[in-house]
Amino acid sequence: MTKAKIMKKSELKQFEKRLIEERKKLLRELEYEGSQISKSNESSGDLSAYSNHMADQGTETERRELTSQILSTRREALSEVDLALNKVNQRKYGFCESCGKAISKRRLKFLPQARKCITCSKGSQK
Ligand SMILES: [Zn+2]
Repeated sequence: MTKAKIMKKSELKQFEKRLIEERKKLLRELEYEGSQISKSNESSGDLSAYSNHMADQGTETERRELTSQILSTRREALSEVDLALNKVNQRKYGFCESCGKAISKRRLKFLPQARKCITCSKGSQK
């Protein structure tokens, strides 16, 4: 049996730093998109604005749907990042949830919140 390589403390710290940065970025984006939504909700209360712009209503709805899609994607990403940070604290970071093997550092550098190794994540997408 091969022992899973445990990440060096310094490496772990680097990934933790990246995850924290990612978390901040996502929170900022969520805040921004959230404020865009409340803005468009405010303007929808103003009926006079619509009377002359009936044609815009479709695109406005589309835009709002797109924004809420973006928001849910960001929220998902945020919870992934939170999970990864939890794992850092529990010293379990960097291992595949599916097969338990260490996730390659190359993959973690590209996607620090990765929960599965490349083999398992490819398998689940099929
Ligand atoms: Zn795996």
